[in-house]
Amino acid sequence: MDRVPFGRPVPRPCEAALSPLHREDSEGFCPLCWGALGHGLRTDEEPYPIQYYYPCSQCGTELRLLPPQTVMHNPSVEAFYREHGIELRETPPWELCETYGEMRVVSGDESRVEFDLRLGDAVAVSTVDGRGTLLSFERES
Ligand SMILES: [Zn+2]
Repeated sequence: MDRVPFGRPVPRPCEAALSPLHREDSEGFCPLCWGALGHGLRTDEEPYPIQYYYPCSQCGTELRLLPPQTVMHNPSVEAFYREHGIELRETPPWELCETYGEMRVVSGDESRVEFDLRLGDAVAVSTVDGRGTLLSFERES
């Protein structure tokens, strides 16, 4: 399995090199020490009012990701971007931030976030659980 080195200990959301959740299993591991990561959702901070956070149980590092960044490895999401000329594996994460549309916490389940991905005129509405799982992905036409 390829391991991509992380450039910064605590990446800001749009600078996260690769999500620690980009694994076939959905449990995250700390890129610094491979400790198990916790999981939670913050909705009270600017400039990113909705962020998932992943505190390491071992070294105390806390990773943060914007909701769209938790599912950029998903085949449906990759295909959506590819159709618009963007290869996710070859594109720096910060260049994708402008494609992230509105985000909202799903009422009734505080761990889930719904957001839009916008590529030109194309919009896809996604729901995620913060653990790298894409719960729904619907394209609007
Ligand atoms: Zn750690």
